[in-house]
Amino acid sequence: MLDEKHTLRNRKWLEEQQARLTTELGDIHMVVDERPGYSTHMADQASEVFEQAKNMAVTQRLKHTLDEVNRALQKMDNGTYHLCDRCGGEIDQARLQALPHATLCMPCQTRAELHSRPR
Ligand SMILES: [Zn+2]
Repeated sequence: MLDEKHTLRNRKWLEEQQARLTTELGDIHMVVDERPGYSTHMADQASEVFEQAKNMAVTQRLKHTLDEVNRALQKMDNGTYHLCDRCGGEIDQARLQALPHATLCMPCQTRAELHSRPR
């Protein structure tokens, strides 16, 4: 279990990430909304599709991280921050210090990544 000092430090970090990710996600939506509905040049279309795909990927990654950050903050409030979401075991203290938004212990994280690896 993390001591109070590190928990406070992690909470501060998580809250900063939460604010930053929320702002970034808002910015991406604004950029997408400002785009003209169509363009006449093929090259423009191709780059637009590429931009949109890139934005989509970035958005998904940001959302995923934001989910983890929100989940970690929620767990802090519940007093289960140091417990693994999957097996209920204790998450290594060093892991939480290095990765404040970790919600799984190392073995569970490794297993989760194996399953969610892009094909
Ligand atoms: Zn676990």
